[in-house]
Amino acid sequence: MLAARMHSYKAPLVLDDIKVPEILPDQVLVQVGGAGMCRSDVQLIDGYFAEALKINFPITPGHEIAGRVAALGDRVPATTQLAVGDQVVVAAGWGDGICRQCRVGDEQICEHGSWPGFGPPGGYAEFIPVPYRQLIRVEHKLKWEELAPLTDAGVTPYRGIKKLRAAGVLGPDRVMAVFGASGLGSYAVQYAKLLSAGATVVAFARNDEKLAIAKQRGADVTINTRGKSLADLHDELFKLTGARKLDAAIDCVGAEETIETGIGLLATSGAFVSVGLVGTRINIPLFPFTAHELTYHGSFWANYSDLEEVLALAQKGKIQHSIKRIKFEDVNENIDLLRAGEIIGRAVIVFDIPE
Ligand SMILES: [Zn+2]
Repeated sequence: MLAARMHSYKAPLVLDDIKVPEILPDQVLVQVGGAGMCRSDVQLIDGYFAEALKINFPITPGHEIAGRVAALGDRVPATTQLAVGDQVVVAAGWGDGICRQCRVGDEQICEHGSWPGFGPPGGYAEFIPVPYRQLIRVEHKLKWEELAPLTDAGVTPYRGIKKLRAAGVLGPDRVMAVFGASGLGSYAVQYAKLLSAGATVVAFARNDEKLAIAKQRGADVTINTRGKSLADLHDELFKLTGARKLDAAIDCVGAEETIETGIGLLATSGAFVSVGLVGTRINIPLFPFTAHELTYHGSFWANYSDLEEVLALAQKGKIQHSIKRIKFEDVNENIDLLRAGEIIGRAVIVFDIPE
């Protein structure tokens, strides 16, 4: 089979012809139908995680994975109801199953966990082994390119916005912002509408083409932040929504500048959630943060239940996708485009297998 593998940092992936992996008794062999391309794949290749992750090369990236069950290990229980040919997605946080986080279902933040594509083989390959507990069967089949991104781009902002909902800052008289209108952002505006009980949803980004998509996906208003000061943004927000400040915001970018802007626009007792990861530090003025009782949530990826909820929405046709289909052999070219921020929506490698 073919796998696009990293043999070192800061080098193009190599399309290697390797053996189809053997599965352990508690694993399922998945034939990959779709593999989403994430900005964090570019960061992985560029060495952003080199300190945090000890990697033995070569590895196969790709953590947004949908496919078909090709074979089941001997000890996969019948209660999984998995059968050869089933359409499945891979929930990406593989915890040890025994720590506090795992026990409450948050395997993606297990201290002893791993993530496919960041150590265990990922979806930039024709087949991958997956522990049976990490698969979710899709009843009403969806297209590969719509399914794969739901496992990260399509679920990470969902979890983030659930944290804002739990913080009590969403409601019909509130203003909620989404920063970033690329892969995650175009999903985030949809969840903002679905989960905010009628709040006014504002999309902020630096690219008009991406903002136009955010508008189509349900943003009530959009603001291009390029070259604007905080005062300009307060004014524009007031003109468009009648409010000068935000009650809630999700940052899907992760750049220091976006986070400073987002926190700077928050109203008293507002809440902010970070899901994007591009920069390395956060710089927030302390006095307004404390005196205005702001709340800052980190939100990492999503757990199995979050993904089940998003899949339920998708199977009911309630999620719109902005997808660029990619051929496997064009993976490196698209990594370069992703690095340059030149992909609109989500790039997904689509393999030629039936859904
Ligand atoms: Zn754990």
